[in-house]
Amino acid sequence: MKKKGLRERLHNQCWKLMSEIVRRESKGICFTCGKFVDWKYEMDAGHCFHGKLDFDPRNIQGQCKYCNKYKKGNLNQFAYNIIKKYGMEAYEDLMVKKNTATRYEIEDLEKIKIDLKIKLKELEEKE
Ligand SMILES: [Zn+2]
Repeated sequence: MKKKGLRERLHNQCWKLMSEIVRRESKGICFTCGKFVDWKYEMDAGHCFHGKLDFDPRNIQGQCKYCNKYKKGNLNQFAYNIIKKYGMEAYEDLMVKKNTATRYEIEDLEKIKIDLKIKLKELEEKE
């Protein structure tokens, strides 16, 4: 069996942290339909743009499983709500970055992991 590369393992570790932070911060309110769900068990961390922006907090939001899976991300509403929450410039920035961003390298992921761990600890302490 082939061992997963370090980059991939780090990416997975960072994603786990990111997902928990985003779902905790949402307090269980779906970003795209507003439904209240249990953030621990009934919520996903959903993407507006897939591919390269896994750790951009504007691009990743708490979503109920219905929106994320059955509505395939409910992307029109997702985009609209990004614009409402962060402004048109932020949305346009994401539009550019989804095409131009390079993949996360090991050094990037190591930094991201440290930042996410701090952020999660702060959130846990607030509760
Ligand atoms: Zn929803």
